[in-house]
Parts: sequence; structure tokens; C-alpha cells
Amino acid sequence: MRVLHVAAELYPWVKVGGLGDVLAALPLAQREVGVRARILLPAYPALKTAFPDAELAGGMANLLGTGAARFLLARTPEGVPLYLLDAPALFDRPGGPYDETGDSYLRFGALSCAAAWLAKHGDAHGWRPRILHCHDWQTALAPAYLALWGGDRPATVMTIHNLAYQGIYDKGVLEKLWMPSEAFRNAGVEYHGQLSFLKGGLHFADRLSTVSPTYAREIQEPAFGEGLDGLLAYRQHDLVGILNGVDGRVWSPASSPHLATHFDAAHRSGKKVCKNLLQRELHLAEAPRVPLFAVVSRLATQKGLDLILSNVEHLVSLGAQLALLGAGDPALEKGFKAAAHHHRGRVAVRIGYDEALAHRLLAGADALLVPSRFEPCGLTQLYALKYGALPVVRRTGGLADTVVDTTAATLADSTATGFVFDPVDGWVLGETITRACELYVHHPRDWARVQQRGMKRDFSWRVSAKRYLELYQEILG
Ligand code: ADP
Repeated sequence: MRVLHVAAELYPWVKVGGLGDVLAALPLAQREVGVRARILLPAYPALKTAFPDAELAGGMANLLGTGAARFLLARTPEGVPLYLLDAPALFDRPGGPYDETGDSYLRFGALSCAAAWLAKHGDAHGWRPRILHCHDWQTALAPAYLALWGGDRPATVMTIHNLAYQGIYDKGVLEKLWMPSEAFRNAGVEYHGQLSFLKGGLHFADRLSTVSPTYAREIQEPAFGEGLDGLLAYRQHDLVGILNGVDGRVWSPASSPHLATHFDAAHRSGKKVCKNLLQRELHLAEAPRVPLFAVVSRLATQKGLDLILSNVEHLVSLGAQLALLGAGDPALEKGFKAAAHHHRGRVAVRIGYDEALAHRLLAGADALLVPSRFEPCGLTQLYALKYGALPVVRRTGGLADTVVDTTAATLADSTATGFVFDPVDGWVLGETITRACELYVHHPRDWARVQQRGMKRDFSWRVSAKRYLELYQEILG
């Protein structure tokens, strides 16, 4: 089974959030279960630098009027073939992968178009996929191009990693994307008089998936559907939720190069050392018996961090500590910086993106706060489980599917792995933080049991890889 994944992120070279982690892990896990998976990404400067020996493997004479484009073929260090779409006018720029310079529609229209072209015609060596697997809106026009071009084509899968980002543009761009005008209708790429990349993908792809079973259900409802719930409900029989996994090569407290001391479920004493080192690094009081809550997150409305901000005083009044790493919304950045200033030694805030510190935070923290308003899957709570930080999460999407609340019943039947709250409400989060502190301070043996159970949970990519294989087999009959 040959599969081509197309996306805009790939850890460790281009990563904004979980999408980069997924692309680094899923194709590799698929290759381990017999799927011949390859990846296509724009030739961002970071990737061109990382793969200077990438070989020419095909090209297009004129990519949407922007000039010639080349497909360069490299291999990741793990051996996954990686095509780089070399279209310098579009991708050879400084900045993040999504930095808005006014032509994102063209950059990602070109990525979609090139993916469709490569999947339909194959590369210069004759490699052609049976499945084109598109990830998020930046690639979502690929199934539309394939359907509109007609003729022989690979089957298509559209995976939603976050429905909130859709790629909506003025209808005038249709022509610049070389889309026929008949594509601009409700049964096409049209969305309330505008062109929507994601809508196009969700309409034209053969199968749809998202990254947790609960999110797959939620997005069929107006509250979570971001305006696309009608279409998703209409296509419910083609829509499946497959959980993401944890890449143990990157995320393991037993081997992470970012940790000074290692530990695992059977040998947890190293975690105490990590906590002490973290407190020292962040200038928090070096108190071993004080519960330390961490946050590692994009600072976006989705993540519900305003609920944490409104709970800082409460958390401190319980004697706990808070350590946050994140970047994004300026108002939230300002609010957290002020909280850190006000509660020196109790609250530490690092604004920015720091992969190594993310590992140290999870290793040193007792709990991780993830109060998301919605969460397609969420990876940080999975990493936290593995690193022995109990996740405190809102009951939504993948958070609901991966964390079991601690109650008398779940303690008794040994299923508890963290704390789960609902609805989105600062007071309810506050109560949950109180519950967590009570367990930590007054029932340390129970806390240790819950922690150990979480560390043993197996969110392996192998399981997800097999589920995607079943999905491909279903499509191909
Ligand atoms: P999302 O993709 O919505 O941002 P996920 O939980 O699926 O959320 O994935 C987030 C990923 O990004 C995780 O690997 C997390 O560790 C990482 N991350 C988020 N913010 C930061 C940051 N400020 N520094 C380092 N890593 C971060």
C-alpha cells in the first residue's frame, strides 16, 4: 500500500503544534506495519538546509502561474522518503510556516495542487501512491483538484487536526488557483460566498478523519462544528476518529536528552530530582512537597488559558506552584507575566517556544493543566501521562478520550489517571485544582498509584497506524 502524506509541518524542522509531531511519527509507524508511506512538504528554508542532498524527482513546468516547481526527494534520518516542493517564490522565505504575507492562499493552493499532481502522475521514478492523505486546510484543495481534473486518480483522505483553521478567502482567488468556476458552489469549495480550502477538502475527499473519536462526534454539532457541522453530519458515515499516539523516541522520561536525570514507571525517584532542578531553573521555591502545576501550550482562546489566569490567586492560596511555557495571544502573555511578577517564587512564566524546556516542565511537574474549550486530540496530556504529571483536563475531544477522572470509584477500580472537569468555567477548574491538591497533599499513596498507572498507559502510534491502514483498505475495497 503506497500512501503520500501532504502537510505543512514536520518535527523537528517545521513545527508550530501537534501537527508537526504527527507527521514525524505516523508515516514512520505506518512503514513499520507495512504501509509504504512518504511525505510531501513545502521546501521551507529549514528543510532545504537539513536535506542539502535531496535529489530531483520530478517537477511541474508552471505551478499556478508562479513558475516552475521541482520535487526534491530526501530521506528522513529514520528512513521515511520525503518530497520537498521546491517553489522558491512561494516557500523560500524567513519566518514561520504560516506567517501571513498576503499570499497564503497561493502558497497553500500551490501545495495542494502540487500534491494532487504528484499523486496523480507519480514522480520521475514511477512511484505513485494509491492514497493521498491530506492534513489540515493547507492541503485541503488537493482532493478538489483531483476530482475536478477527472480521470484516473488515487483515493483521498482528509484529516482534520483543527477545524478552527479553515483557509477562507475571497472568491476572486478561485481563478488564481486555476480552479474551474464550476467548483464554486455549495457542493464544492464555496462557503457563504467565499472560497474555503477545508470545506473543499471535506466535500471532495473520499474519507474524512479527525484525531479522536469524541472530537469526531462533537464536530457534527453546531457548538464545535465551526460552521461545517452540517457537512460533517451529512458525511458522518465517511468520518472516523483515530487517536494520535506518543512518539516514544522523542517523548520518554527514560531517555529524553533534555533531562538531567531519567526515570520511568518502575523507577520514579528521578522525577523528584527533575522537580528540584526545574524549581531551581525557574526560580521557584525549592519545595519538594508543594504541588507544582505546569502549562505547555499555544496561548490561544481554544486552550482556555484565561481560566487558569483567573485561578492563579486560588492556586497560590492552596500553597501550589505554577510554571507556564507558551506564546501567542499578547493579552494572555501580559496577564501571565504580571502574575509571575506578583507571585515571585510561586509562579514562573516563560514566553516563547522551547522544546527542551517543555520536556523539563513535564518531567518536573506534578500535574499539567489543559483546560481547552475544544481539543481535537491534544498531545501534551499524553506526554504528561508518560512523564508522571497528572493531566487536569476539560472533558472534551481527545482529552475526554485519554484521561480518566480520579473519583472514589475510579480509585477503587484502578482506572484513574488524572482530573477531568466540565463545563468551561473558572470556578469549576478551581474546584478541580483543589481536588488535585487534596489528593497530592493528603493522599500521597493514591497520588502515586494514579501517577504510575498513567505512566504505564500505552498510546502507541502502532495502534493508530493500524487503524489508518484499515481505513485505507476500506476505501480501496
Ligand atoms: P496544538 O497542536 O493544538 O498546539 P497539541 O497538544 O496537539 O496542541 O500539541 C502541542 C505540541 O506543541 C506539543 O508537542 C507541545 O509540547 C508543543 N508546544 C506547544 N507550545 C509550546 C511551547 N511554547 N514550547 C515548546 N513546545 C510547545
